[in-house]
Amino acid sequence: MENLNPYQIAQVQFDRAADKLDLEPWMRDLLKTPDRCVTVNFPVKMDDGSVKVFTGYRVQHNDSRGPYKGGIRFSPEVSLDEVKALASWMTWKTALVDVPFGGAKGGVVCDPSKMSRAEIERLTRRFTYEISDIIGPDIDIPAPDVNTNAQIMSWIVDTYSMIQKRNVFGVVTGKPTFLGGSHGRSEATGRGVATVALELLKDEGLEPKGLTAVVQGFGNVGYHAARIFVEKGVKVIGISDISTAMYNPDGIDVEDARKYAEKNDFLLEGYDKAEHLSPKESILEVETDILIPAAVENQITMKNAGNIKAKYVVEGANGPTTPGADKILYEKGIIVVPDLLANAGGVIVSYFEWVQNIQKEQWPYEMVVRKLEEKLISAYKNTRNLAEEERVDMRTAAYMIAIDRVAKAIRTRGIYP
Ligand code: GLU
Repeated sequence: MENLNPYQIAQVQFDRAADKLDLEPWMRDLLKTPDRCVTVNFPVKMDDGSVKVFTGYRVQHNDSRGPYKGGIRFSPEVSLDEVKALASWMTWKTALVDVPFGGAKGGVVCDPSKMSRAEIERLTRRFTYEISDIIGPDIDIPAPDVNTNAQIMSWIVDTYSMIQKRNVFGVVTGKPTFLGGSHGRSEATGRGVATVALELLKDEGLEPKGLTAVVQGFGNVGYHAARIFVEKGVKVIGISDISTAMYNPDGIDVEDARKYAEKNDFLLEGYDKAEHLSPKESILEVETDILIPAAVENQITMKNAGNIKAKYVVEGANGPTTPGADKILYEKGIIVVPDLLANAGGVIVSYFEWVQNIQKEQWPYEMVVRKLEEKLISAYKNTRNLAEEERVDMRTAAYMIAIDRVAKAIRTRGIYP
């Protein structure tokens, strides 16, 4: 049986790249483990008067290139091992796209779909209080992730600012544009996925017009990626979310599906302008040019990798492909653009937001998009070139570039004391 523990998966991916680099054994040990893991258990008053105890985590993986950076997710699937893996992926992501941050991640074990807005607010505020000693604009900067958004970031800003007795907008990124947020941040991850995919097609000598895409996950990442694909002439023939998967060979009207979902608790279930597939995971096996897994971890595994018919897989989610599946896809000649690169648009614009907060400025949307595309395309080129030079998959190449940058920072700073 294949190992699906995200932390162990992150270690296998790290080792594959570290084997190709001349790393000191101590450096390997240091980079394989997070700097700090904080677990908090805290009570929250529920609407019915009862009190429930929740568990949350903040894992800080490495900050040698700059403050720790990474999202906070609210989900029943959250575990310490998952957050540890996600934190290390942030270290590699920020290094690969060369923004001056380290890597962190947070999560609270809860099911927000079963909680009221007021309960989510109280949970957010208390969790912020619990981690308030270890976050801050120069220490560790959270952001949105699975089931968290600009509203939740605003509650974090407010709570942290109350504790500090002054406004500290730079404590998180992904805020609303009228509260220190950056234009283009909410669509940034999806735009980044589309940007990298289109750059790959260009390299392959293909025109986007007439090609097809399937997108798994119709949240903030999947929806914007699909929308931008349609703008560029790519036909989106399949989309899915946690409730259902839909297929239409003539193309799905992405805007119409989004409008439907917005009125239906953000679920696609019941949408009648496409064929619904069962089981919903079979959406990954549809014949298409581009496949975008934009949901959660462990979607393409040794079980289904052999059935993937896409020519290109561009990872919108973090950790959607297991190491066993990576090998199978590589042998089949399917190009996988790894999460570290494909979904880095979010953290790139988070960096722009952080800079704008420090400078007390707000940049125009067009400037954000231009700077985002510049950074991503340059990271894409470096990764693709190294993959070709070293004859490795793009994931290994991305890790090699990132690990090398972090190790160089650590070596140059030296060991304290
Ligand atoms: N949660 C996003 C990610 O996984 C964004 C993190 C950030 O902007 O700090 O990359």
